[in-house]
Amino acid sequence: MPITYEKVTYEYNQGTVFSYLALDQVDLQLQEGTISAIIGKTGSGKSTLVQHLNALLVPSKGSVIVDTIRIEEQKKPKNWKELRKKVGIVFQFPEYQLFEETIEKDIIFGPKNFGCSEEEAKQKCKAILPFVGLDESYLEKSPFELSGGQKRKVAIAGILVMNPDILVLDEPTAGLDPQSAKDMMDLFVRYNKEYHKTVIIVTHDMEHVLNYCDHVVVIDKGKVAMDCSKEEFFQDDAILESLEINPPAIIELQKRLKQKGWKIDNYELCFEKVIQKLSKEV
Ligand code: ADP
Repeated sequence: MPITYEKVTYEYNQGTVFSYLALDQVDLQLQEGTISAIIGKTGSGKSTLVQHLNALLVPSKGSVIVDTIRIEEQKKPKNWKELRKKVGIVFQFPEYQLFEETIEKDIIFGPKNFGCSEEEAKQKCKAILPFVGLDESYLEKSPFELSGGQKRKVAIAGILVMNPDILVLDEPTAGLDPQSAKDMMDLFVRYNKEYHKTVIIVTHDMEHVLNYCDHVVVIDKGKVAMDCSKEEFFQDDAILESLEINPPAIIELQKRLKQKGWKIDNYELCFEKVIQKLSKEV
């Protein structure tokens, strides 16, 4: 079991008049080798939840266990360097954090910081570039010469080069055009499938949840409101409505057909199955 939250409570500005309870006794387990979507309204506590995974935040109460590392309340774990290697977090708009003169320098920054020699770090950098869809001609370029989507690939390469067992992405496709967003999601799926890595994605995009994720966790007011498979999640009209987000097109279509009197007991998640089912009815 790689990730377990045990009664995790997190309070910002604890003990001050500005204190705010962002997580409230969260119990949660995320399975190794899966892609989990963390969803919920803005301000529900999603970012706070994932920032516990590499001890950027530590629980005010409770603990988080990542593989063999235990993050106890109120203290930074002793082996936090090992933890930061194990868990790579990509924040929203990671391209804003590119700061070196060249792409190569940016990507090797992490490995060097974790003890690799310059040569070793450069080799790792060359190996990761094709994985994110870039080639060696980019190495000497400045990040500022790239498009938004390419910059984001560089920023993500800077995390993947560390080969994290757990990759956490906080709204990774925000602001990207549809093709770049698809490329990005395909990349995370490949990282999960080819290397059997755990991927956790904070997202508002229900098409992405449908097409790319295995598991869904809904956070509401700092609590886990739902924790289930994607298949179960999309059957639940009430939760989709309560989240005030548009369901994926395939679910919306079946919902409307149901409202028009078609016999639809459960929603199918792929178009072939919907077509098969409907062609039997006409
Ligand atoms: P989400 O990712 O779901 O949008 P967050 O985890 O960022 O939500 O925030 C949860 C709640 O905690 C929000 O109400 C937010 O205003 C509050 N919060 C987040 N960061 C801070 C902070 N640094 N200081 C005080 N409150 C914060």
